[in-house]
Amino acid sequence: MRTDIKSMTSGELAAEFEKMGEPRYRAGQVFKWLSEGARSFDAMTDIPKGLRARLDELYGISRPRLLRAQTAQRDGTAKYLWEFEDGNCAESVAMRYSHGETACISCQAGCRMGCAFCATAAGGLARDLTASEMLDQVVLGGAERGVRATNIVLMGMGEPLDNFDNVLRFLRIVGDAGGANIGMRRISLSTCGLTEKVDKLSEYNLQLTLSISLHAPDDETRSRLMPVNTVTGVDRLFDSARRYFSATGRRVSYEYALIDRINDYPSQARSLARKVNKAGGHLNLITLNRVPGGQFLPSGRERVRAFEDALRAARVNYTFRRKLGGDIDAACGQLRGAARGQA
Ligand code: SAH
Repeated sequence: MRTDIKSMTSGELAAEFEKMGEPRYRAGQVFKWLSEGARSFDAMTDIPKGLRARLDELYGISRPRLLRAQTAQRDGTAKYLWEFEDGNCAESVAMRYSHGETACISCQAGCRMGCAFCATAAGGLARDLTASEMLDQVVLGGAERGVRATNIVLMGMGEPLDNFDNVLRFLRIVGDAGGANIGMRRISLSTCGLTEKVDKLSEYNLQLTLSISLHAPDDETRSRLMPVNTVTGVDRLFDSARRYFSATGRRVSYEYALIDRINDYPSQARSLARKVNKAGGHLNLITLNRVPGGQFLPSGRERVRAFEDALRAARVNYTFRRKLGGDIDAACGQLRGAARGQA
């Protein structure tokens, strides 16, 4: 098995080149080619032919196959289905905002967190994705659109903190100034709330935006929606989020999808506002996206209005998020990573 070269940091690559007796700057050249989506060493025209052949013996360049690309009529959001070398699949989404092009990528093929409202949960976890497979979604997805992503959200399939080491490695590679150069301030990491891992992330003191999928302010409702909560609990989650804020100075975002008669009562809005305010966070509200076979419904207009009234009265910082990609099942919670016709 050849080593997966795109999962190596620029520092690791430089160290290997040095061992081979090659100058460090050559490693920098190769790292740059890889971050631009080069598919072979032969494409690296400023690298001597002999070295290209040697690299080809030692290293493999991952090349996921694009099985399907769909573009939403309404807003130009695109969804890509990638097949990795072992046949596992994951989806990524590309969105155009006024502040730039955002790549929403998956970090696992599937997910094992089991959230009751999410389409990804239904299939369980196949495996973690490698750093190179995450990078490919950013770089190759951008190439499909003829643009370079300026922002990344780790909000596709999978739980980033359940694949901690690979995700951290990916962040180092994608943030490298000699490569894709997408800095931590332009990356959001979304988690269902693995509190120990949130604490571990705080220690790295990255300037990432941490986004917590909250969806309920009370343990009873949250545990019903998200099994992970039976282990962590809402209060401990807010404690970890507060620590993240004080360690990094980055305001934490809380995601909340309004579900009809489950988490959309004004009393819940008041409790939510109290907790988010106490943690100095920002609330992102959407209505639930429908998923195939789903047991929940999005809140209706009247219930949304009452919920928002209660939030405003409690003076919490919140945004009602615009939805992108709904008509191609590319919205939050709708990614399944399945080919057409598959379950
Ligand atoms: N595992 C991470 C990353 C997934 S991000 C996490 O839980 O945060 C996907 C986001 O979409 C999460 O906020 C998730 O809670 C939300 N989501 C999942 N299913 C949804 C649905 N049907 N409607 C709206 N949002 C949903």
